[in-house]
Amino acid sequence: MSSRRERHERWAIFWCSLLAPLLYGEIPAAEAGRFLSELSQTECDFPNGKRGKPSRATLWRKWKRYREGGLDALMPRRRKDRGRPRRNRAAMIDKAIELKKDQPRRAHGAINDFLKVEFHATIPKSTLYRHLKRAGATRRKLGISQQKIRCRWTRDQSNALWVGDFEDGPYVIEGDRAVETHLSAFIDCHSRYIVEARYYLRENLDILIDSLLRGWSEHGASRELYLDNAKIYHSHALTLTLTHKEPHMTKFFPRQLLYRLRNEIPVVKLVPQLDWPHKHREGRFCFLCPRCGEFLTAVNPRTNLARCFHCQTNFNTIDLVMAIQRCDFVAAVHFLESRLPASTTA
Ligand SMILES: [Zn+2]
Repeated sequence: MSSRRERHERWAIFWCSLLAPLLYGEIPAAEAGRFLSELSQTECDFPNGKRGKPSRATLWRKWKRYREGGLDALMPRRRKDRGRPRRNRAAMIDKAIELKKDQPRRAHGAINDFLKVEFHATIPKSTLYRHLKRAGATRRKLGISQQKIRCRWTRDQSNALWVGDFEDGPYVIEGDRAVETHLSAFIDCHSRYIVEARYYLRENLDILIDSLLRGWSEHGASRELYLDNAKIYHSHALTLTLTHKEPHMTKFFPRQLLYRLRNEIPVVKLVPQLDWPHKHREGRFCFLCPRCGEFLTAVNPRTNLARCFHCQTNFNTIDLVMAIQRCDFVAAVHFLESRLPASTTA
């Protein structure tokens, strides 16, 4: 006998013993009401170890069940649809799949917002994902790339920004051993010219500095330096990155420039330039909200502000670039700077 069944039987026997005087006719059915009321005032030990008073409604229900089906009817019932989604749940899942297929960038939160309105209920993230996966309706299966959108590094002049990185090179014979080589390279962001590239037998901070100094002595110092998050940079190198980045990375942009970036680049032109999903609905421009993945957006041409009515977020041009390209403020400003209309140069 399974422990679950034993537990259920213990409960059934418990109710029987409580209701015994009624069940065996010691108390006539006409007096059942009074008897159950009294019983509901009496403390007793429940099979789960708790002590308390059974509610009158429960007692009534148990008595009614016993009359209908005997002891078995007092056992907790199993759900008929056990193992299958409940009917409403099935409809919710269908709806969720439809919502996801309609707009693969919709996150579980946004889908649940819809479900809440229609079904007054939500589906836990893991359950939802399991069903979406089974239906082939995950982002990946719907062909939306999981690749992170990379920051676009653009600069207007040479030596404004250099980007450096290490790469594993071929093996070479040194003495009587084959040893691995490492390529340390720097590229100038504007001209895409490789300002320094050299194979080394090691990959460490000294090597990095050596190759950087060679680059600088040949081409002059770069105003900004960006080094990728390779492991060797992590400890000491961070200081190096910061020393060269901090003084030159313009932290404070002129107020006038930011004003122009927000106002002189129309959102309706910027979004297509960013290669971001957008459409015209009833003649009005709208785009996919980069925050919640809904199309419930609009642009106010007077203020050049975009708003998502679903997640209640406002975006100016800088916010949009940051959200869509997943870059920081500085990168967004640089990105937009190159798109300012030339005619209005102040
Ligand atoms: Zn939104």
